[in-house]
Amino acid sequence: MNVYLDNAATTKPCAEAIDAINLALAENYGNPSSLHSFGLKAQLAVDNARKIIASALSCEAECVFFTSGATESNNMAIRGIVNAYGKRKPKIITTSIEHASIKETVLELENKGFEVVRISPDKNGEVNPVDILNAADERTCLISMMLVNNENGLILPVEKTFKAVKRRFPDIITHCDCVQGFMKLPVKCNELNADLISLSAHKIHGAKGVGALYIRKGIRVLPIITGGKQEKGIRSGTESVPLIAGFGAAVEKLSDTVKQRYDRVSELKKFLVEKLEELDGGEITFNTSEKCSPYIINVSFEGIRSEIMLHFLEEKGIYVSSGSACSKGAKSGVLEELGVSSKNADSAIRVSITAETTEEELEFFVQAVSQAQKKIIKSK
Ligand code: PLP
Repeated sequence: MNVYLDNAATTKPCAEAIDAINLALAENYGNPSSLHSFGLKAQLAVDNARKIIASALSCEAECVFFTSGATESNNMAIRGIVNAYGKRKPKIITTSIEHASIKETVLELENKGFEVVRISPDKNGEVNPVDILNAADERTCLISMMLVNNENGLILPVEKTFKAVKRRFPDIITHCDCVQGFMKLPVKCNELNADLISLSAHKIHGAKGVGALYIRKGIRVLPIITGGKQEKGIRSGTESVPLIAGFGAAVEKLSDTVKQRYDRVSELKKFLVEKLEELDGGEITFNTSEKCSPYIINVSFEGIRSEIMLHFLEEKGIYVSSGSACSKGAKSGVLEELGVSSKNADSAIRVSITAETTEEELEFFVQAVSQAQKKIIKSK
């Protein structure tokens, strides 16, 4: 039995996305910029996906721009805003628990002379809107804050923070990396008070290599990729019609079931937590609280290092992530920022599920953990 529990890393593409991708590859292979009908047909497929994604975000289609994924969307948001507004306002505020695509981008800008303020979670492991508001001032051009943390699932108070910021400083631009929240929690541009929103297709059963950036009307984002002026000049490069069509199909499939799936995944999380709590082979610490998305469960098994557990589980056909490793196995330090002790961070496992995950799969995982505890802890 193969049990895939690493859906925060990537998801299995759904049949609808695969069909849309295949159709575009095999038949709708025109270049959207071509002036003949073949080109027009490809452009219509891109615009159809744009409409579907806009409808999911409750915004106008013209506010959605396709990219190669959320890493590019995040780069485009930060660099594009800083290039447009950063000369007069050289300060960026973000949190200390962002994904590497934000963290590394702001670090590079800091090395170039921008002022970067990174707000850490408080002693409860939560980001406090007041801390962000207190850091904001007239010199701030951008606040970037993720909706759901990719390591422990923490849901950040984006709506509240951005609302307070906009009330006091209407000119500060707000950006939200919604990769781990889109199609899992309600993500609506106006409710979030976000001027920019980053999305990725492969986290929601689309293909890898495609994402989007929502840009509110009137916000100037200077392009970071220049060329043939596709996507209204904001993102040059021939659009990947198949991947974009697949993105649209995946969003369309999930659009009506956000709440239903959230409820189902919450049930699954509860089931998993209860089963793990029943184990008596060693201490277990949940690095996930009530404030976390049920799609991500981060848990530490005392005495078993993450990599050891990961490979033990892999041998049984169970696929999870080590809870604190971010890119290519490098430790991100985010769990420690979230208040997890260094010892627990070293033994953390991230289990990330979908509404299709079954109780049977979770039981299989729990049994394997129990075997690991017996074998690995006892052998020490
Ligand atoms: N932001 C978050 C929160 C993520 O979890 C990820 C992927 O892990 C990304 C951004 C980057 O997305 P992509 O793989 O589409 O570049």
